[in-house]
Amino acid sequence: MSTFAHLPAESTEAKPVAARTGDSVTDRLVEANQEYAARFQNAGMDARPALKVAVVACMDARLDPHAALGLELGDCHTIRNAGGVVTDDVIRSLTISQRALGTRSVILIHHTGCGMESLTEDFRHELEEEVGQRPAWAVEAFRDVDQDVRQSMQRVRTSPFMLHTDDVRGFVFDVATGLLREIDPAK
Ligand SMILES: [Zn+2]
Repeated sequence: MSTFAHLPAESTEAKPVAARTGDSVTDRLVEANQEYAARFQNAGMDARPALKVAVVACMDARLDPHAALGLELGDCHTIRNAGGVVTDDVIRSLTISQRALGTRSVILIHHTGCGMESLTEDFRHELEEEVGQRPAWAVEAFRDVDQDVRQSMQRVRTSPFMLHTDDVRGFVFDVATGLLREIDPAK
């Protein structure tokens, strides 16, 4: 009997490290943490990112910002959400990153095949109809990923709370090739 019965069928097949009977996914992860902690050698690391950079990226499961950018533990702040959208909460994190923890550069990463391209603001209306409450947040869906990266760069650059806005760059990660394509902010 599969312990992933509540997940879509493809998830069962895609996970070679299937849980032992009776384990939840979280149980498995907690077990992995015990092995991680047994090998842990990063005590005493500085909380201020060594490369003074903050990365804002989509939460997409196919995007590993650390691996894609050659980043190591301690190098950067990583801020992720659906779409890699620069929301007020991302501005909150970037403000703390720059003012309290010394980062100076911002890298924004959207990607090809993002789920946000197939959503619309109708998502909110449907939610409201279903649960009887309208979410305070915008869905921030987009049609044109390049344009959304430009808008995200603009939101960071024009935020009054940022200390450093001279090195804000935006990219689209190709989930088929692993390559980043830089977006020209001026277009
Ligand atoms: Zn995405």
